[in-house]
Amino acid sequence: VTARSRISRVTVTPVAFADPPLLNVVGVHQPFALRAVLELHTDTGLIGLGETYADETHLARLDAVAAELPGHDPYDLDGLRRLVARMLASGESGRAGASFGGMLDVDSALDTVYSPFEVACLDLQGHEAGRPMSDLLGGRVRDRVAFSGYLFYKWDRHPGQSPDEWGEALGPDQIVTQARRMVDGWGFGSLKLKGGVLPPEEECAAIEALRDAFPGLPLRLDPNGAWTPETSLRVANRLAGVVEYLEDPTPGIAGMAQVSAGTDVPLATNMCVIAFEHLPPAIASDAVQVVLSDHHLWGGLRRSMLLGGITETFGLGLSMHSNSHLGISLAAMVHLAAASPHLTYACDTHYPWKTEDLIEPGGLEFVDGSVTVPTTPGLGVTLDRDRLGELHEQYLSCGVRRREDTVYMQEIQPDFRPNTSRW
Ligand SMILES: [Mg+2]
Repeated sequence: VTARSRISRVTVTPVAFADPPLLNVVGVHQPFALRAVLELHTDTGLIGLGETYADETHLARLDAVAAELPGHDPYDLDGLRRLVARMLASGESGRAGASFGGMLDVDSALDTVYSPFEVACLDLQGHEAGRPMSDLLGGRVRDRVAFSGYLFYKWDRHPGQSPDEWGEALGPDQIVTQARRMVDGWGFGSLKLKGGVLPPEEECAAIEALRDAFPGLPLRLDPNGAWTPETSLRVANRLAGVVEYLEDPTPGIAGMAQVSAGTDVPLATNMCVIAFEHLPPAIASDAVQVVLSDHHLWGGLRRSMLLGGITETFGLGLSMHSNSHLGISLAAMVHLAAASPHLTYACDTHYPWKTEDLIEPGGLEFVDGSVTVPTTPGLGVTLDRDRLGELHEQYLSCGVRRREDTVYMQEIQPDFRPNTSRW
């Protein structure tokens, strides 16, 4: 009889990596983005990896779960979820009822805390079985996963730093130049512009410039709820036939439903439908036609597969959301997309914007805008311990402890206010 592996040791390592000054509806990216790297060791010598957010509150929750995990069976995912729920409910140091990022309730905290442990357990299962993670999710339905090039309005530098290699992008011509670099460098076959930064007419002009410059490429615009329903309809009329979807033009399910009733342009969201409980009211009011999955937020890979099934059942499209992330998350996103039959759009990724990583190079390359699904066991990526150490040192020294785009923007432009519903 072969002894079943048990988790013997867990480490949670916060890291910081350089991030360019990308603009959005609530401000601007700080000079460093934070992530937490999970390592689950077994008594049989295997290591499972996970990656997630690293805001202070989230880190405290991860540490609390990590302390309880030794002895756990990496195949017992339901038990893992109960363990996470128990830790969140225990209420020590304000864990119960605290929100994550100021917009998620306790149930969502369960999903966000559970997710990286689930990914790491699946990585362990894959290593033990000698099978890639996509096999554990039902098998690959595609060998390559397509991503869209993610365009941002941006400054040419963070204050006090030298210019980055991307340069400034504050108008249509500069956005087209940025897109050219994305398409030439990574081969992306579709493009997304992060909006909510400039008045909608200027952002429409940028989309129209992209349409002229890249006639065959599907385009998306995501202002993160910067517009009223009336403005959203005006934009939808202008960009009908130009964009494949508008993402979160206005906040909330009711507002999105109001826009949806007045246009045939598909509406996508990663803001008003971010948990299973949001699906029934959104579907009942036909508020959105495309849901963006995100395994970090939706409770891991298996629950993201469940989301995919629900979207298929109710005739919704499925795309994938991205926050600034490193290679462990990219690998998990690729395996999830590879195993998702109903994925109907190219996935989002911030990956080209980062200049630092902590996995050994070579496993995840963008060719023609797609990443080939790893076929080696588990996630198929290996931690570079030197880089992990360096990015942890950077976390310790950089001073950033939570994502605060608005606070950082107001240090530079004191009169800045978030653009939510502004136009
Ligand atoms: Mg979005």
